[in-house]
Amino acid sequence: MKTDDYKILKGQKALVSGASSGIGRAIAIALGRAGADVVVNCGRNRAEAGKVVAEIEGSGSRAFVFQADVSQEDQVLAMFARMKEQFGAVDIVVNNAGVQKDAPFDQMTVEQWDQVMGINLRGQFLCSREAVRHFRRQGIREEVSRAAGKIICISSVHEVIPWAGHVNYAASKGGVMLMMKSIAQEVAPLRIRVNSIAPGAIRTPINKEAWSTPEAYRDLMRLIPYKRIGEPEEIGRAAVWLASDDSDYITGATIFVDGGMTLYPGFEAGG
Ligand code: NAD
Repeated sequence: MKTDDYKILKGQKALVSGASSGIGRAIAIALGRAGADVVVNCGRNRAEAGKVVAEIEGSGSRAFVFQADVSQEDQVLAMFARMKEQFGAVDIVVNNAGVQKDAPFDQMTVEQWDQVMGINLRGQFLCSREAVRHFRRQGIREEVSRAAGKIICISSVHEVIPWAGHVNYAASKGGVMLMMKSIAQEVAPLRIRVNSIAPGAIRTPINKEAWSTPEAYRDLMRLIPYKRIGEPEEIGRAAVWLASDDSDYITGATIFVDGGMTLYPGFEAGG
């Protein structure tokens, strides 16, 4: 069997937002290894995004960096136009860019609220809308996939777990959940699949204070029945599967990749 036979996304064109670090980086690299060409979107960190491109190219796929703020419509439109120009198609879009701006609720500023909503929710709306426009125009590219396109929203366990001190973040991820399901319902007849991955605690820069000291790690384990933190590559593997025809009958679903964090760990010892 040739090595390429394992490349289940061969010939597909993917875009990953916020792909210069953490989960987005791991997803972009995993998609590239699975045979997809990848647009590596970054907000600010061009240098790190360049390293992700090099890694994808090393696995035999094409990639380029596109710096764009996903909360800005003109920048998102320009990014997709460039993708079409450079790769000729859009098959997979992963809405990963996200931020936390935490504050006790009575001290939360409008700026903190707007920034989180702007990137985590409006950004996912803008990229999803642009993806659907491209998928509709293209139709099904039978040579690469049974679907006309796949959107994967990176949500969070906080699409269902309330989170004190992080009201803006939890509200944005709850919004992602119903946005994802509503888009999925609307575009399913077009053979466009829309799903989410809801990570639990994954070792990335966004939550460094929760895992970088032994005390913090021990505290974190009280929330994780599986008793270990997740790694970005584990989200990458889930994304490859959700983007592939192996999951062709799945749409409107949230896949929790969380070591059981959503299993009410407070009841572990019987409640
Ligand atoms: P991260 O901080 O490493 O990644 C976030 C990325 O988004 C960064 O690369 C950042 O540059 C980019 N970004 C921020 N604003 C942007 C903008 N306006 N336009 C484009 N890109 C922008 O953290 P991460 O943990 O890898 O987070 C990735 C996603 O996973 C986020 O949506 C986050 O909410 C979600 N998530 C993470 C965890 C976790 O435990 N790490 C858990 C649940 C959900």
